[in-house]
Amino acid sequence: MQDLHHSQNKRPLEPAKLANYRGRFAPSPSGLLHFGSLIAALASYLDAKAFINDNGEQGQWLVRIEDIDPPREQAGASQAILKTLEAFGMHWDEQVLYQSKQSEYYQDILSSLHKQQLSYYCQCTRAQIKAIGGIYQGHCRSENYQAQGSAIRLVNHYGLHQFYDLFQGNVSCDKALANEDFIIHRKDGLFAYQLAVVADDIAQDINHVVRGCDLLEPTARQLTLYKTLSINMFNCATPQYGHIPLAVASKGFKLSKQNKATAIDNKKPQPTLIAALEFLGQAPKPELSYGSIEEIIQWAIDNWQRDKVPNTVEININQVNIHQ
Ligand code: GLU
Ligand code: ZN
Repeated sequence: MQDLHHSQNKRPLEPAKLANYRGRFAPSPSGLLHFGSLIAALASYLDAKAFINDNGEQGQWLVRIEDIDPPREQAGASQAILKTLEAFGMHWDEQVLYQSKQSEYYQDILSSLHKQQLSYYCQCTRAQIKAIGGIYQGHCRSENYQAQGSAIRLVNHYGLHQFYDLFQGNVSCDKALANEDFIIHRKDGLFAYQLAVVADDIAQDINHVVRGCDLLEPTARQLTLYKTLSINMFNCATPQYGHIPLAVASKGFKLSKQNKATAIDNKKPQPTLIAALEFLGQAPKPELSYGSIEEIIQWAIDNWQRDKVPNTVEININQVNIHQ
């Protein structure tokens, strides 16, 4: 993330006539929600629900379970995540989409890219790529390998690496990484995150992606994939991206399911919800501490201000007055 440059340029206005806002929260069920993932859920929820279209309707907020990596899945996590969202008063629109049910759709996209020579099989190992400096140089583009034992890489025609972020301002990602022919189907047979996330954002007509800053760099690749699919398959518009600061326990160490950040307690959600609003710079009024979850959420929707979300990549929750 060191290569990231961001500046707080003037924020462009939302198009006045945006008919509809469709946002989403897309957790991977590799563990329970913790404070870091809860704030991502909350920011995406509030940004959607604070939007009102010309007919007076709020934005829609969808939940998608990104269960495409069975070895990393924790039994029962999907249901537990959904329960936590409900306990915190975040109710989703439409049916929850499970990525594990989307294989045929992903496969169709892969076949179409392959037919149009926009992808190729690669048999390079991690060690080989490391030996050439860590960035893949398109070695297998002209090798014509078979599917067996290969990963599939996208022919990267665009290398998009700059975008306007709703919270971080203008973002410029690592150019070399953004230019890489990245993997869209893994050697072990699993669909790659980049492919699945963009495929489903398209399928669900998502026009706003609000999530944590750990996904700032991958956004560059997702922009390129959007453009590739939009020109060659779907005619879809790229969503607006917004990345909120990561909650870290010490510099560079994000709270994550992997480092066993404390799972959220569904039984007394109010203090955690208030702490999450504080983290997001929303300055909840003191009386809210005595409010119900519904009251706190309603206040947060009514008072949501994007400009107050800190435009930093990470916040150490041990150094600010936030008690999870
Ligand atoms: N499933 C991804 C994660 O839990 C997030 C995907 C996204 O929001 O784009 O890290
Ligand atoms: Zn290769």
